[in-house]
Amino acid sequence: MDLKSMNEDSCVPYLSDGGIKQKSIDQRSPLPGEPKCVICCRYGEYICDETNDDICSLECKQTLLKKTRVFPATDECFYVGSSSTDYYSLRLRSKLDIHVQGAAVPPPVLSFTSCGLPPKLLLNLETAGYDFPTPIQMQAVPAALSGSSLLASAHTGSGKTASFLVPIVSRCARFRSEHPSSDPRNPLALVLAPTRELCVQVEAQAKMLGKGLPFKTALVVGGDPMSGQLYRIHQGVELIIGTPGRLVDLLAKHTIELEDVMMFVLDEVDCMLQRGFIDQVMQIFRALSQPQVLLFSATVSREVEKVGGSLAKEMILVSIGKPNTPSKAVKQLAIWVDAKQKKQKLFEILTSQNHFKPPAVVYVSSRAGADLLANAITVVTGIKALSIHGEKPMRERRDVMESFLGGEVPLLVSTGVLGRGVDLLVVRQVIVFDMPNTIKEYIHVIGRASRMGDQGSAILFVNEESKHLFPDLVVALKSCGAAIPKQLTSLTSSREMHSNKKRRVGY
Ligand code: AMP
Repeated sequence: MDLKSMNEDSCVPYLSDGGIKQKSIDQRSPLPGEPKCVICCRYGEYICDETNDDICSLECKQTLLKKTRVFPATDECFYVGSSSTDYYSLRLRSKLDIHVQGAAVPPPVLSFTSCGLPPKLLLNLETAGYDFPTPIQMQAVPAALSGSSLLASAHTGSGKTASFLVPIVSRCARFRSEHPSSDPRNPLALVLAPTRELCVQVEAQAKMLGKGLPFKTALVVGGDPMSGQLYRIHQGVELIIGTPGRLVDLLAKHTIELEDVMMFVLDEVDCMLQRGFIDQVMQIFRALSQPQVLLFSATVSREVEKVGGSLAKEMILVSIGKPNTPSKAVKQLAIWVDAKQKKQKLFEILTSQNHFKPPAVVYVSSRAGADLLANAITVVTGIKALSIHGEKPMRERRDVMESFLGGEVPLLVSTGVLGRGVDLLVVRQVIVFDMPNTIKEYIHVIGRASRMGDQGSAILFVNEESKHLFPDLVVALKSCGAAIPKQLTSLTSSREMHSNKKRRVGY
């Protein structure tokens, strides 16, 4: 093997095997403007042949590959040369369960440093502890940076938000510095999300990533005075984050110049559809001049694809794992409980050290039910529980979230408000007290028990009321090796027999 081989395309020396600097300590410090090793920050003299990262020595190359845990620590699959990129991309995608569709999909990246991001943004990522991109970021960030429109599907907690914010911050900051005469009062990017909570969370992350760059944000959500939001926009912002309803209101009553918007993001598209927001989304989209479109959705249905088709001519599709299957990181336990026994069963679980794993969320279907159940839990078990749902004023919702995330309250009783996108890093357990109406929603809800692939658990109360979901529920439970309650299988097979019988009669 060559000690230093050359990439035919870019003529960059590749680090392929021995002969070059072995140890990080053998390498000097970088001079101003020189590349830095992504592991130890010494002079990044070489480029790692597998990841395209700047690297100082073989030692750091090994550390990099181990950290990314993508390839086995043997030489079996490392090839250098112009064809390695394809092989490398395919291999990386298959290892990380990354699926792509579409023309000219760029290769996935193993580090943010290989994305050509502004140095301040790299620093902000480092400060935030984002040492390595998550799988969705590995593929979605370079795809979005390439300017293509994108439909991305990934499990909740997979790092979806940064997948669109990193390209937004990068492109907006660059645009402002390359076009100093652009009107700073014209926003450059627009993110729409279905709930106020999600918007607040997206804005917090955007601020953190855009720190020190020409990058300001405005939040346009209900619950806060419109005048303040408008004032902020008119002062000049790069990114507006909002809910569709409030933004339509604002646009109807006031003039906001949207002609420079070059990136349009819809977060949680499936939820937007469910809540009937798509007409408002389209209304907003029509005010823009053909921006790049980035769609993120935990589940991808025909309707979601249709929305994509009406916003962009061509899209790259990226998904992590098979779309619409439960995260393997969540251990599911389904318990057959008659409707009348559910409260009692819940109290038993909450008072059992073996079963209750706080911080936890109890998912219920009705708002009134959430309040009543939270009170009952506190009275009967002595465990502090609070409820959260869409009818509570925003301030109260914020207070509840603060008590929960701060560790004061170990249990939250929630309706679908928390089922989506909102960052519940602390949650380790979800108890599904009421089965949601669809399996997709169920998959979403239990996804709250795992963030960034950490292990979590979900306990599901199931009974005849959700009979229509049994066949799909059996599949969801089986996909994670969970036990199936016998009532579920017997009802499912009798349903199957019944439908077979009907089919035979039809013939
Ligand atoms: P999201 O799926 O966007 O809600 O992100 C889930 C959580 O992961 C958030 O708290 C993010 O701050 C965090 N996060 C996102 N990307 C990374 C990363 N590359 N490394 C570490 N944490 C991350």
